[in-house]
Amino acid sequence: MIRERTVGETSKFIDVLTENLGVIEINVRGCKKINSKNCAAAQLFAYSRFCLNKRKGMYYINSAEPINIFYKLRTDLQKLSLASYISELVSYVVGNEGNGENILKLFLNTLHFISNDERPLELLKSIFEIRFMSEIGLMPNVFTCKDCSEYVVEAAYFSINEGIISCANCYDGYTDDNIKKVPLSVLYALRHIILSEFDKLYNFKISSESQEILSSITEQYIIIHLERNFNTLNFYKSIV
Ligand SMILES: [Zn+2]
Repeated sequence: MIRERTVGETSKFIDVLTENLGVIEINVRGCKKINSKNCAAAQLFAYSRFCLNKRKGMYYINSAEPINIFYKLRTDLQKLSLASYISELVSYVVGNEGNGENILKLFLNTLHFISNDERPLELLKSIFEIRFMSEIGLMPNVFTCKDCSEYVVEAAYFSINEGIISCANCYDGYTDDNIKKVPLSVLYALRHIILSEFDKLYNFKISSESQEILSSITEQYIIIHLERNFNTLNFYKSIV
């Protein structure tokens, strides 16, 4: 569950990222009256199994069972705000059709690691940002040089606007805020994030220096290519 809007005293609409239907809106009525299992399943960030009825284009809960409610997210404001940010990205981009399986996997795995303190939050944020963009068809080319087409194995220059790299030989020296010099460690990190299987995706470390560069690239890539600033991102940044 990625978003909710309360209606009156006992009802709410929730947006749910699903495996097969993209993001759908569900009308949850009388949460005070029905059993608490349904209510736990319909809370923010809960991963749940829903049995739904559809009437006049609107989904209603028949029954619901929480699988994982990621309760640790609620104990830490930084974690909560990062989870809110990735939820906003999903809710902004993913429509109510198409196959959401990989995005659901990415979202759930990232929530798991945010919740469990197993990886630095900044690394998780970068992983989500670039992998999410790749999954929705906006993958940057961080592999070959845009000019000579060689596979780049040294520090390169990344144009965030264009989502392409130039090798050091071909780089024309032009600079602005959208051109970042990318050390090899960061280039490898970007490639790993884009290409890894989900079970290996989170299994790498980078130095705090490299993380800083990676963060600035992945975040700017999101803002430029989705053509939008996110309130949840601004809030996350204001508290870290
Ligand atoms: Zn080149």
